[in-house]
Amino acid sequence: MSGRKLIASSKSRAAAIALLCLGLAWLSARAQPSHAAGQPEVNPREPRRVLLLHSFGRDFLPWSEYARSIKTNLEQRSPWPLDFQEHTLLTARFTAPGPERPFVEYLRSLYQGRPPDIVMSVGGPAAGFVQRHRAELFPNAPMVLTTVEQRLIDRASLTEKDTVVSVRHDFVSAFRNVLQVLPDTRTIAVVIGASKLEQFWLEEVKKDVGALEDRVSFVWYGDLSFDEILNRASALPSQTVLFWGLMSVDAAGVIHDGENALHRLRSVANAPIFCFEESFFGRDIVGGPMHSIPELGQKTADAALRILGGERPADVKIEPIAYAAPKYDWREMQRWGISESNLPQGSEVLFREPGIWEKYRWQLALIAAVILIQTGLISGLLHERRGRRLAEVESRQRLAELAHVNRYSAVGELTASIAHELNQPLGAILTNTETAELMLKGSAPDLEEVREILADIRRDDQRASEVIRRLRSVLKKAPFEIQDIELKETVREVMGFVGDVASGRKIDLSFYGPADTDLHVKGDPIQLQQVVLNLILNALDATSEVETGKREVSVIMARAGSFAEIRVGDTGPGIAVADLKTIFDPFFTTKPEGMGMGLAIARTIVEAHLGTIVAENQPYGGALFTVRLPLAS
Ligand code: ADP
Repeated sequence: MSGRKLIASSKSRAAAIALLCLGLAWLSARAQPSHAAGQPEVNPREPRRVLLLHSFGRDFLPWSEYARSIKTNLEQRSPWPLDFQEHTLLTARFTAPGPERPFVEYLRSLYQGRPPDIVMSVGGPAAGFVQRHRAELFPNAPMVLTTVEQRLIDRASLTEKDTVVSVRHDFVSAFRNVLQVLPDTRTIAVVIGASKLEQFWLEEVKKDVGALEDRVSFVWYGDLSFDEILNRASALPSQTVLFWGLMSVDAAGVIHDGENALHRLRSVANAPIFCFEESFFGRDIVGGPMHSIPELGQKTADAALRILGGERPADVKIEPIAYAAPKYDWREMQRWGISESNLPQGSEVLFREPGIWEKYRWQLALIAAVILIQTGLISGLLHERRGRRLAEVESRQRLAELAHVNRYSAVGELTASIAHELNQPLGAILTNTETAELMLKGSAPDLEEVREILADIRRDDQRASEVIRRLRSVLKKAPFEIQDIELKETVREVMGFVGDVASGRKIDLSFYGPADTDLHVKGDPIQLQQVVLNLILNALDATSEVETGKREVSVIMARAGSFAEIRVGDTGPGIAVADLKTIFDPFFTTKPEGMGMGLAIARTIVEAHLGTIVAENQPYGGALFTVRLPLAS
């Protein structure tokens, strides 16, 4: 190979190398993410790699809740697919943290040449870490330092690729809230652990609360093991409250997950627990002004999306987030006797336990409805019963009136008999008076005989008075009136009326009642007399039709079990079989001048006395009416 050739070939090799370099440079320029130069990404389908760096661990409250809220917000609102890569800065957990170097090396080898699209630190220790190692780890990647108290940010080291989403702890206002809610509080016992971060905060709190020391005294648990803290919390003097700051690592070097630790404290403490972290709210703490998890999640996502969208991180400025409006747990308020009137204006009370009414609303409504319906039914029934009673009283009244009219018509039939009954004693009185006058006109009147005549006159007068009394009692217009009566006597009085009618019609009227037994019933004597009178008059009417043969009417009384029985039988033609069913109907009559009300009234009266009345034909002819009335017990 000649020297020229060699030169030529080395020239062409140099050109080829130059070309290759150019091509590589072009390729590398393409591979370089455009946003690293501050330009917005063009390809919307390419996932954005988000590095999340946790301070204590992914499940450590309160940071875990903030991180979850940030991720949820980002996932919901990001126009790009997101690839979350999460790491935890374990060193923050130790009271004497070991060297960070190995972790830095690990991250460097992981992300070398392929940096994340955005780095997000969660919590104070993580913020400190990324600030310390940014130049070496992620010199060009934008960073969001979030969920960090503003005091923990090293402002001097912030670059134009950094954005801060910080919170502001206001210890004084948190303690003031305790004093407002429980004004008798004398001591606040502050629970803060012993890690570097916690010790920092303990000092900060001590610095801040100087202004309150004339109102309340503070007790610090920073140098106690958690077991010792639990001991003390179970026997606190009255008017003490516990304030939950942080408990990641206790003075004995034991690592705690905040949620479990707080829950253990709550289960033994004899005082209420306050805290300004919303992530602990809802189970163990009373509440108060707290950092809002949704607010921080949303503001952090806002910042991250703006940066991923191409904005310069230094231009994304977010004010430190203060406490949200105070919230309180109703159950804790009940437990510690906290009055709602002590809460600051604009407070929200959550977790109210429903009262008995809210809890069993529909069951109670059902019971109330049933009671209402029952009440309605009962009052309806009572109303109806009253109505029925009134109607009964009224119908009895009407019945009494009708019976009265009916009695008049019956008595009409008795006129001849009554006249005859009255005539007899009156005639005898007249004759006796005339005789006595004649005797007294004589010279020596027989005074003994005159005395006898006068005695006769007196007896006849009494007979006439008796007839009139009976007539009056039958025609008396009296309301239905229940009384204790002896039925034989009542019926016998009726017999006194009709005896003459019967003999006038040549009918043999007989009466039989048991001599040894009284038949006491409860009833209205006038109405019962009316029943018997009607039956006898009907029987006399029927018997009057008999031309040849026996003309007999019999009234027989007896005791039949627990009933008093009155049987009125006759020797008349009897009742046509077809009429037996309708004979008690109103207006049923076979008589040319009949009204057809006698038997209807009789049945109504008997039934009103809880008795029965039956009509039948006797085997040897004639009708038989049987009335049964319950005997008075
Ligand atoms: P009235 O006597 O005005 O007809 P009642 O109601 O007293 O009304 O009697 C109704 C009917 O019953 C009578 O018209 C008669 O046909 C029949 N009746 C009642 N008692 C007897 C009896 N003892 N024998 C035959 N029929 C009778």
